[in-house]
This record gives sequence, C-alpha cells and structure tokens, in this order.
Amino acid sequence: MDVIGLLPRLHLLRFPVGQAYLWRDDDALTLIDAGTIGAGRAIADAVRALGHAPGDVRRIVLTHFHEDHVGGAGEFAALSGAEVLAHPLDAPFVRGELPGPHPRFEDWELPIHAAAAKLLPDGTPMPPASVTGVSDGDVLGFGGGARVIHVPGHTDGSIALFLPEERVLFTGDTVAASPVDGSVLPGVFNLDRPQLLASLVRLAELDADVACFGHGDPVVGGAAAALREVARAR
Ligand SMILES: [Zn+2]
Ligand SMILES: [Zn+2]
Repeated sequence: MDVIGLLPRLHLLRFPVGQAYLWRDDDALTLIDAGTIGAGRAIADAVRALGHAPGDVRRIVLTHFHEDHVGGAGEFAALSGAEVLAHPLDAPFVRGELPGPHPRFEDWELPIHAAAAKLLPDGTPMPPASVTGVSDGDVLGFGGGARVIHVPGHTDGSIALFLPEERVLFTGDTVAASPVDGSVLPGVFNLDRPQLLASLVRLAELDADVACFGHGDPVVGGAAAALREVARAR
C-alpha cells in the first residue's frame, strides 16, 4: 500500500485495487473507505507513520459496499475502535448479512472487471461489529462539517462526502480517473448507469476544488470544472 500526501490534512492510501483516504483534524482522524481484505494492519501502520495511534481514528466512512472499499473496515475497526458508517441501503452488505447485488456490466467493462478481480485478495471481508447508518444531508463531525450526499447508481447506497469549508469532495466510485491519462470519467461496474450519471451531475454542481475518487489520481485544484465537463459530455 502506498501513502501519498495530497493536502496537509489529507492523505491518499493506494491499494492494488482501489483507494482510501485519511483526513486529519487537530484531534482526530477519519478514514474514508478501508481498502481490500487484509488492509486493516497496513492502514494502522500508515496511521502510525503519520505520527498518530490507530485509536485516533474516530470513524470509518464507507462510500459503498464493494469489497475493494470495505475489505479492511472490520479489521481496522477492531484495531482502532473506530465507528463504521455507511448508507442504510448498503449497510446489510457491509455487515455481511446478505451478498451484495452484482453490477450490470456493460460489454466493454467485462475485461476490465476480470483484470481487477485477479488483483483482489481471496476470502470474505471480516464484517464490522456494528455499522451506523448515514443518509443524505447528514453532517459528520470532521473537516469542518462533512456533508453526506446520497449518490445512487454505482450501488443503491453509494454516498459522497463534501467538505464545504475545505472544498474537498470524496466521490467513492461514482466518479473515477483513468489509469491511462488521468482523465475524469463516470464510475464503472454500476447497478444503474443512468442513475449514476444523474448522481454525477449532482456532484458537479458542488464547488469542489479537490476531488478524491475510489480509483485513479485525485484532482487537486479545479475539480468542479473537471466534473462539469464530464457531466456535460454525457
Ligand atoms: Zn471500487
Ligand atoms: Zn465500487
């Protein structure tokens, strides 16, 4: 796992598949997504390398239930005592009570998905002991007030987080950046692509300067313009 500083308060954690983010307030940390199965220990090491204890992480906010985002959530919650938060529509899959629904793949997505699946560790994620529901309009206590935005389409319970004071947006897999040229793209492997595109339009209306995606390099500076361009092209 690579740890990359984006802003003084923001680090990117990059896994073989997918990414998580660590936000630092003066007295506490927040983890946005939690990597693949087995990532809990590596996240704890990253937290220590930044001069904190795992127990300083107060919450783990999951953008959706996919394994490359929740794989390490139960492990890291057990190590840190952090609260785990997810949208109620995705929470049963995060808790492991039900298998999550499979995406409706576009034909061109199938080879990309097969390649990504080979990089995922085997096994079943350790479910968190409890998951707290968060919904559209909730404001979470980090980054000066993090607004929860329900962005269905990739999954039914996908959420984004927007920090208006910091102008930082966490999109989950509703938006991605191309691994080839860094261009901003609608997310892939969706349950409902038209719904995803409508959610993307909603994110493009925000005044984000920095956009952090589930996959691909974040946009640091001018994120709203990049998102509006993608929204307009659809
Ligand atoms: Zn993902
Ligand atoms: Zn996903």
